[in-house]
Amino acid sequence: MCILCNSFKNNELTIMEAWGNYAEMLETMEPKHADEVFLMLLSANEGVGFNNKMPKPTLEKIKG
Ligand SMILES: [Zn+2]
Repeated sequence: MCILCNSFKNNELTIMEAWGNYAEMLETMEPKHADEVFLMLLSANEGVGFNNKMPKPTLEKIKG
């Protein structure tokens, strides 16, 4: 648990702000905890339907 987790769980950060802080804190974070935070933010992303940054297959591409 770190300041980022605390702030995020208290709804003091938006998902975008949390990702930004995560990127900044990554260097100083324990690798194991970095993984945990990554998964936490990732599942939060799905919760708000914010998957814009992730490539996803489209029907058009499948059909060719
Ligand atoms: Zn944390």
